[in-house]
Amino acid sequence: MLWQAKRRIEQRYQNAIHDLLQACVGAYAKNTSAEEFEQMMRMYASSEAFLGFANSLAEVMITGLFDDVGRSWREAAHHNMQGRELYDLLINDLAGARGEAMHRMINENASLIRTLPTSVAKQVSEYTMREALKGRRPEDIEVEITKLFPRRSKARAKLIARTEVAKAQTALIQSDCELIGAGWYIWRSTHDQRARYSHQKMDGIICSWRDPPNPEKLFPEPRSKPYGEYHPGDTFNCRCYPEPLVMKSQIIQNTYSVCINGRLIIMKRSDVIRLIAV
Ligand SMILES: [Zn+2]
Repeated sequence: MLWQAKRRIEQRYQNAIHDLLQACVGAYAKNTSAEEFEQMMRMYASSEAFLGFANSLAEVMITGLFDDVGRSWREAAHHNMQGRELYDLLINDLAGARGEAMHRMINENASLIRTLPTSVAKQVSEYTMREALKGRRPEDIEVEITKLFPRRSKARAKLIARTEVAKAQTALIQSDCELIGAGWYIWRSTHDQRARYSHQKMDGIICSWRDPPNPEKLFPEPRSKPYGEYHPGDTFNCRCYPEPLVMKSQIIQNTYSVCINGRLIIMKRSDVIRLIAV
């Protein structure tokens, strides 16, 4: 699907984060106190080798997304003169600005990865303390840590990868849109069964980069929590993505729902084209 972050990029990032979390938990050995382990993880997290690792892991993920979004722009531009001009503008004239955005995003993701070893240590230490308070024997707690934490790492790696890849994809499309002056996008939901109810309902709605929607407020559900205003892919566990509106030929329906100032307005095709000014 055009504009959607590729699953293989997410999967690769997830595997790498999982390996890292496992390696951290694996370093926890018997007869290590929680403080010793925390000290060890702090040293590891600040080592040259680990900083390099965190950076290259973030770099592979972000550059992969950049290449794919570049391909999406090219494909979107394929049949249309207007699109081709935009694509040339983006790829040739704005390469510098795009490079800056890429470096900023690599740094952001590398910083997140750098927090993982100490956060594993913190979780181990909190767990040890909690169980000790219940009167558990230290050797039993140690055994449990080596069993329980590997299972937790899997779920955690999955959540981090899904959330961060979608977030980065959205940030990257948004940054490209700002460069070429495209102010609107269509919210695309992934239609998988995990998609939230409100996100399924957002599918196909036109939104502005300057005025992010509040999906839970637009489509309330008895048990849904408020997450505020955000763009597709910009909240945890969300694989929705924005389809940037850059050409008239993308407006094919007779009417659209457009989110303006927190409300949905039904608009005719001609009004939408005037609004998004493409
Ligand atoms: Zn979503």
